Amino acid sequence: MKKTFNKKEIKSIAKEIIALVSQKKSESDATVVTLSGDLGAGKTTLTQAIARELGIEENVVSPTFVIMKNYRLKTKDYRLLVHIDTYRLDSSAELLKLGWAEIISDPKNLVLIEWPERVADILPENCISIVLSHHTEEERNVNIK
Ligand code: ADP
Ligand code: MG
Repeated sequence: MKKTFNKKEIKSIAKEIIALVSQKKSESDATVVTLSGDLGAGKTTLTQAIARELGIEENVVSPTFVIMKNYRLKTKDYRLLVHIDTYRLDSSAELLKLGWAEIISDPKNLVLIEWPERVADILPENCISIVLSHHTEEERNVNIK
């Protein structure tokens, strides 16, 4: 799926992504969604929109400084949304230390990871890839594979 969207259209993009994600859900492992794109491409904003659609009322903040933040989910598919930003990690070994192996082995986890390129060597093979880029100041392109 390839689309251009502005902030007003983000809700419908989030809904489409959730529909896609639930189709791809595995019964044996976590669902891992990678969010690629430059600084300001809209990775955190899209995560916030997805979280809202999934019923998370809490404010979803950028995890750049904390690396990882968990939000309880009560959908039929998932119990936890794990939002990761690897921007400040020096290596994928640091993510392993944060319990990455356990996180991605629980099918009740939905993992959204910003800057996946930085930990490419430990990403599972069946990730859903979302690539965001600037279109205009007010619009972004999204490409989902
Ligand atoms: P990233 O996490 O990729 O660095 P952010 O989600 O923090 O980017 O967004 C950076 C800026 O871009 C914010 O000011 C945000 O409001 C704006 N923005 C995000 N998504 C969109 C969009 N779809 N259309 C227009 N502006 C957006
Ligand atoms: Mg961000």
